[in-house]
Amino acid sequence: MTTLGLLNIGALATGLLDRPRAEAESILVRDGRIAAIGAARDTDAAHADVVIDCRGTTVMPGLIDSHCHVVLGDYTPRQKTVDFLDSYVHGGITSVVSAGEGVHAPGRPHDPVAAKALAITAAKCFANFRPNGMKVNAGSVILEPGLTEADFAEMARHGVRHAKYGFGGYGDPNDGAPEVRAAQKHGLCVMSHSGGTSIPGSSPISHEVLLHLRPDVCGHVNGGTTSLDEDGLRRIIRESEMALQVVQAGNLKSALFILRLARETGVLDRVCVASDTPTGTGVMPMGVLKSVCELASLGDLPSAEAIALATGNNRRAFRLSTGTVVPGEPADLVVCDAPSASGAQDAFGAIARGDIPGISAIVIDGEVRVARSRNTPLAKRLAAISGVAPFSGGH
Ligand SMILES: [Zn+2]
Repeated sequence: MTTLGLLNIGALATGLLDRPRAEAESILVRDGRIAAIGAARDTDAAHADVVIDCRGTTVMPGLIDSHCHVVLGDYTPRQKTVDFLDSYVHGGITSVVSAGEGVHAPGRPHDPVAAKALAITAAKCFANFRPNGMKVNAGSVILEPGLTEADFAEMARHGVRHAKYGFGGYGDPNDGAPEVRAAQKHGLCVMSHSGGTSIPGSSPISHEVLLHLRPDVCGHVNGGTTSLDEDGLRRIIRESEMALQVVQAGNLKSALFILRLARETGVLDRVCVASDTPTGTGVMPMGVLKSVCELASLGDLPSAEAIALATGNNRRAFRLSTGTVVPGEPADLVVCDAPSASGAQDAFGAIARGDIPGISAIVIDGEVRVARSRNTPLAKRLAAISGVAPFSGGH
């Protein structure tokens, strides 16, 4: 049994939207899971095998990028970049959800057999491959005409838990309803493209199509990259319960409109944050952190709530098993502070001003994977780690 203790926590973001902050000076992690949160004398975190002295800084859940364009391996064919997932960990992202491996697979075939095979292959490859410890939730089947109930049952048996709609060979985007229903029936979480076309091979998906198809998640609802219009967004928010995924690679004005409307109508729990990268927008290791800062600073959303949209809300919408700081949860954690040159005094203050925080430790399943991030700015106060050398880190 190995233990990890986090001490001298100044502020804690829980990832839970209804109680996004907690007062706790320490966390004890046992065998990769959070065992106790509270006063140091109660958790005994100081006597753990590995100790992170947070030195008064902020701890939050590892960020979840619920729209990441993985294919196979740590390589993006779209931007011809290797080790991008490793780099995303340095941006505080400890889990991603595949937006459909087929979307960027070179030469992607449109037949249902290939769609099924690729999804099963990706699910099984990434179950064994964790770049810098990252949890890659892959196996997201592109819905194609001809996929049968038996296909979805087989995929579910082999670890496929997500589906993507909007890139299949449908003549009319409304035609996919049978495959969306079949995927949902077999327990897959279905995310649809929404808004204008993105790459050749995608279809424009209007609010009317979304209200007809009823996927679980309206992917990049602020545009990937072209947003739906405001009336369409109003109807989706009012007339459905679909999750609303706001992405860095979309339309920022639209993201702020969605945020405002969701708060006014009391459905902020449906809003989740993702990057929708790598795409034409680029490879963005800090994409999710940047969206958190934009929603907080431009949308006047409390920083801890903005963090919850990128963690606990993604957990719920995509049925993941990480994203909140509560006992029993996997210890996927980020230690951060205001960047050294910021006028803010801590990470919450920095996010509220729109300043990207500086990360000084990243823990996945209770293991320190990164010390000082190579991607974020230098933190004012750096966590001090004792007991073990981190897997990687530094510049
Ligand atoms: Zn996408």
